Amino acid sequence: MARPHLSFEFFPPHSPAANMRLWSSVERLAPLGPDFVSVTYGAGGTTRDRTRAAIATIKERARLQVAAHLTCVDATRSETLDVARGFRRMGVKRIVALRGDPPKGADRFVAHPDGYGSAAELVEGLMRDGDYDITVAAYPEVHPEAASVSADIDNLKRKFDAGAQRAICQFCFETDTFLRFRDACADAGIAQPILPGILPVENFAKMQGFAARCGAGIPEWMKAAFGNAQTEAEAKLLAVAIAAEQATDMMEAGVDHLHFYTLNDPDLTWDICAALGLEANDMQAVAGGAA
Ligand code: FAD
Repeated sequence: MARPHLSFEFFPPHSPAANMRLWSSVERLAPLGPDFVSVTYGAGGTTRDRTRAAIATIKERARLQVAAHLTCVDATRSETLDVARGFRRMGVKRIVALRGDPPKGADRFVAHPDGYGSAAELVEGLMRDGDYDITVAAYPEVHPEAASVSADIDNLKRKFDAGAQRAICQFCFETDTFLRFRDACADAGIAQPILPGILPVENFAKMQGFAARCGAGIPEWMKAAFGNAQTEAEAKLLAVAIAAEQATDMMEAGVDHLHFYTLNDPDLTWDICAALGLEANDMQAVAGGAA
């Protein structure tokens, strides 16, 4: 099997200790030679600044392509485009263009009166504004607000028709569900890459809450397996084994790019890549590494 392309998602840290954790995650994972790393974006101004700061940290510590996430939440169109232009000024032309989630307690997203109402509109706006490389989100288990499976795939197609170049999927633990989704996208005429999102399970209880919020299912076999893990070490081994098996099954089915949700913890992602036989040999990726 050919070596897969890799990408890693990080989130902006909110304390000096968390910033150290981001540094060490980036330095540990950069030698695996990811095609890009991405940095998430939260609602509101402070998290926006944290995204910028995290990008600056990554660019300082490693020679990596960075993709900045960007949402339409609580911002006018021109404010949103200004944030994207700010990323460009930092040397980041890759944008993960998202609508964003409804605020806590609300079940539907309400756009700012002068803002973008969907990710497809944001992609159109970015494409008109500059030369961006745009990635969008996709949902193998269907976005919770979508009217139907086909309506959700139609929406994904609109994002590609507007100019997106690839989609990253919400994490999904059943490989067959991802593969069926990938094939349904191809049947709908989508030719661009659909990257599976792999979530290493660092903390099963916490992950259950997160999965419920974003509409990702947790298979019964996984609940039983983690239920039987007696120690943290056993749970960690299980997490690595599950993700490595999922990645192997996907690669055997022709998937050539794996996107990891690292949660700024490099260990599980590193161990999964090691289990897949992926070597960390790109020492030049780390600033200060061998030239
Ligand atoms: P959209 O593609 O606009 O879709 C949202 C919903 O509206 C879908 O149900 C879609 O089917 C429906 N829809 C859209 N347009 C139409 C239409 N014309 N007609 C009918 N239905 C329509 N959130 C953050 O806040 N920050 C992040 O950094 C972040 N990163 C993410 C990264 C990935 C890889 C993923 C998968 C999600 C991420 N999210 C992030 C979460 C994301 O913001 C939410 O899932 C959000 O609810 C939807 O965003 P979207 O870009 O998929 O929206």
